[in-house]
Amino acid sequence: MKQPDIVIIGSGIGGATIAAALAPSGADILLLEAGGHIEDRPENRDQRAIFQRGHFRPKEFWYEMNGKPFNPGNYYNVGGNSKFFGAVMVRYRREDFYEMQHLEGISPAWPFAYEELEPWYSRAEQLYQVRGQIGEDPTEPVHSQNYAFPPVPDEPSIALVRERMKQNGLHPYSLPLGIDIERWLAKAKTPWDAHPNSFDGKMDAETIGLALALQHPNVRLQTRSRVTRLQAGADGKRIETVQYRKDGADEVVSPKLVILAAGAVQSAVLLLRSADGKNPKGLANSSDQVGRNFMNHNSSAVIAVSPTYRNDAIYQKTFGFNDYYLTDGEGGPPLGNVQLLGRVSGAILKANMPSVPEWMLNQLSAHAIDFYAMSEDIPHAESRIMVDGERILLQWVRTNWPAHLMLVKKLKQALRAAGFPLVLSRPFDKRTPSHQCGTVRIGNDSAQAPLDIWCRAYDHPNLFVVDASYLPTSAAVNPALTVAAQALRVGDHILQKELA
Ligand SMILES: Cc1cc2nc3c(=O)[nH]c(=O)nc-3n(C[C@H](O)[C@H](O)[C@H](O)COP(=O)(O)OP(=O)(O)OC[C@H]3O[C@@H](n4cnc5c(N)ncnc54)[C@H](O)[C@@H]3O)c2cc1C
Repeated sequence: MKQPDIVIIGSGIGGATIAAALAPSGADILLLEAGGHIEDRPENRDQRAIFQRGHFRPKEFWYEMNGKPFNPGNYYNVGGNSKFFGAVMVRYRREDFYEMQHLEGISPAWPFAYEELEPWYSRAEQLYQVRGQIGEDPTEPVHSQNYAFPPVPDEPSIALVRERMKQNGLHPYSLPLGIDIERWLAKAKTPWDAHPNSFDGKMDAETIGLALALQHPNVRLQTRSRVTRLQAGADGKRIETVQYRKDGADEVVSPKLVILAAGAVQSAVLLLRSADGKNPKGLANSSDQVGRNFMNHNSSAVIAVSPTYRNDAIYQKTFGFNDYYLTDGEGGPPLGNVQLLGRVSGAILKANMPSVPEWMLNQLSAHAIDFYAMSEDIPHAESRIMVDGERILLQWVRTNWPAHLMLVKKLKQALRAAGFPLVLSRPFDKRTPSHQCGTVRIGNDSAQAPLDIWCRAYDHPNLFVVDASYLPTSAAVNPALTVAAQALRVGDHILQKELA
C-alpha cells in the first residue's frame, strides 16, 4: 500500500484547520478520526435528549486520583468538540501573551507576542466566517482585517439588557460568532450552544476546515479509526509508524510527517502511552511536561431572574463584556470574561434540577437571562493527565479560583443593578472539560516545554501537535480561534520548510 506523506490524527479544530492549510500542497494527507459523522437526526435539536438523557455523551469514564470514575463531556466525532461548541471565535487579548499577575499566581508569557499570531487570527476569522464588530470592546487587540460579516443581532429582550448594562457604565460587545443564524433557525428554533451541528449553519471543524481540505483529491478522511500508538524508530527520534484500530482490526501506516490533534487530553494520553525504551516517560516528553499544566478555565453559569422581565429570545448568545478582564474594574487583579450562554430553557434547567417540574422551570426561564463567567486557570505542574493501563487519570489542580468567585460576585452586582433582584450561579466542574488545554505546551526552552513555537516536538523532528494542548496559557476567553490560528501558522511553516 502507498504510504501517505502526512497523517493527521483527529479532525477537530486543530486537525481540520491544518488539513485545510496543507491540502493545496498536493501532499498525500490521511486524516485518522476516532469517531463517525454526526448525523442529521431529531435528537440534534431535542433538548431533553441532549441535556436530560445525555444522548450524545460518550459512554466513557476518566478517573480521579482516588480511583473515582466520572463521565466527561468530551466528544469523539468528525469535527471533534466543535460540533457542539458555542461558536464564539475570539482572539486572546494582546496582554494575554505577556506575563500577567493574577490574584493567585502568575500567568506566564507566551514564547511570542500577539503580533506574531495576528495575521493568522485574521485568516482564521475569514476562514470560519466569523461575524463580529470591531471597536466595541476596549480590550480588543488590533485587527489587520475586519470581520467579513456583521454581528449576529441581539433579539429584543437581549438588546434591552445590553442597553441597561451600557447605561450602568459597562462596555458590552457583540460576541464574534461562527454561525449563520438564518440557516440555523431554519432547521429548528433552538440555540446552538451545546447542540450538535449537522451542516445547519454552525462554522465548525467539519463544515469549514475539513470541508475545504476534502475538496482536494490528495486528502482522505478515515473515520472510526482510533490511533493507539505512535512508534519511534530505533534511535527514539523519528516517528516511524502510526498504529490504529479500525473495525476491530489493528492497522499501521508509515507517513513522513505525523500531526497529532486528538484534543488536549487524548493527545497527551497517546504520547504517554507510546513510551518506549528510548522515551521511557512517553514520546515528546524529555521535559516531563506532557500531560502537565492541564487547564480548563474556571467557569460558572449565572442566571439572573426578574418577575418584570420577559425573555422571549431563542438563541440569546450575542454579547459579552470584558470590564473585569484586565483588572477588577478598580485597579485590582484580572478577573475574567463574561458572555451570554445559549438560552437556558426549562428542559435544560431540569437536567440539573430533576425534582422540579419542567413547567415550573419554563416559567423561571421565561423571566431569566443566562450568562457564562470565565476566569483564567493558570498552568500548574501538578494539574495533570496521567495514564494507568487503559485508564485516563485527571488530577485537575484548579488555580486562581478566588478570582473567579470575585468575577461571579461582580457579575451578580452588575445584574442586580440592571434590574434582576434574583441571581443564581453554579460552577462547571471536571465533567465539563470543554476548554481543556495546555498539556503539550509550546515554549522556547526544551527543558520546560515539549513543543517549539511551530508546535514541533523537540524530541521528534517529524511530529507536530496542533490542538488545544499547545496553549501555554488558557487566558480567559474561548480557545477555538487561537487553536485555528496557530494551526494555520504551523501549516504555513510546514509548507515552507517541509514540503517546499
Ligand atoms: C459544549 C461545548 C461548547 C464549547 N463552546 C466553545 C466556544 O463557544 N468557543 C470556543 O472557542 N470553544 C468552545 N468549546 C471548546 C472547543 O470546542 C475546543 O476548544 C476545540 O474544539 C478544541 O479543538 P481540538 O482540535 O483541540 O480538539 P477536539 O475538538 O477535541 O478534536 C479532537 C479530535 O480528535 C479525535 N480523537 C481523539 N482521540 C483520538 C485518537 N486516539 N485517534 C484518532 N482520533 C482521535 C476526536 O474524536 C476529535 O474529533 C466548546 C466545547 C464544548 C464541548
